[in-house]
Amino acid sequence: VREPLSAAGGGAPPCILTLDVEEWFHAHNYAAKVDAASWEGRARRAHEGVDRLLALCDELRIAATWFILGWLAEREPGIVRRIAAAGHEIGCHTYAHPVAYEQTPEQFRADTRRGRDAVGTACGRAPVAFRAASFTIVRRNYWALEVLREEGFRIDSSLFPVRHPRYGNPRGPREPFILGPRREDGLLVLPMTTLRVARTNLAFSGGGYFRLLPLPVLRACARRVRGGQREPVIFYFHPWELDPYLPDVDLGALQNLRSQGGKRDLHGKLTRALASLPMTTLGAWAEQLRPHLPLVARTGDLPG
Ligand SMILES: [Zn+2]
Repeated sequence: VREPLSAAGGGAPPCILTLDVEEWFHAHNYAAKVDAASWEGRARRAHEGVDRLLALCDELRIAATWFILGWLAEREPGIVRRIAAAGHEIGCHTYAHPVAYEQTPEQFRADTRRGRDAVGTACGRAPVAFRAASFTIVRRNYWALEVLREEGFRIDSSLFPVRHPRYGNPRGPREPFILGPRREDGLLVLPMTTLRVARTNLAFSGGGYFRLLPLPVLRACARRVRGGQREPVIFYFHPWELDPYLPDVDLGALQNLRSQGGKRDLHGKLTRALASLPMTTLGAWAEQLRPHLPLVARTGDLPG
């Protein structure tokens, strides 16, 4: 599958900016400390980060793929409409940000439908791309991909083949495939970007990894992924990473670094990193790949 992954014309593949639109208290680092029952009473700040990200995309003249939380789309439909009106791609980031591998298939299906409907109602078009909360589709709940296909989703961006305490699957698939049976309407799964180094998959393209690594290192990683591995770099960020607001919640030193470290420099770093890269959306890239990808009949056949 190597050859078709390169961009048409033989150049290095483009890059993709993905954004998970949620409040800071939905992030799983905070979820353990902030009860879901208190969400309703909290001041919402996502619009701050969304507006900064919209301005950044406008400045760079790029379209991004925004995975929007249904809970937020219901309460702030204006945010969804602003993103859609600016010409971006709209995806679904669940309804209530559950840890997917802690759900039953019925719970997963119900939350996913509710999220898709909330986002679709807000902007007038039903999303066909999905990302689970915190990349929580792992080996033990690969069945979630089959639910997404049954629900009519065309693209999934929930697999992260790295070692991480709460998500990921370092032995899982790291190249795109289609969950069949049919190519035309199968679920096209695009695992998150990793750099292969000494048989290990390293993450660098978003969240705390991107905020904490120096720009020259990030650029070198991106060059190796695009040039050597012939794969696109899928970047991922959240509105709360661009918002200077500091939640008054004690996470402990490590989680605090993961959640807050490097936030102040992110806007400039992201602008400099993306300025020189060719960019596309997840949907456009996926549909370009679709004719060339391997078909997988059942999730039981996946590695991991
Ligand atoms: Zn999220």
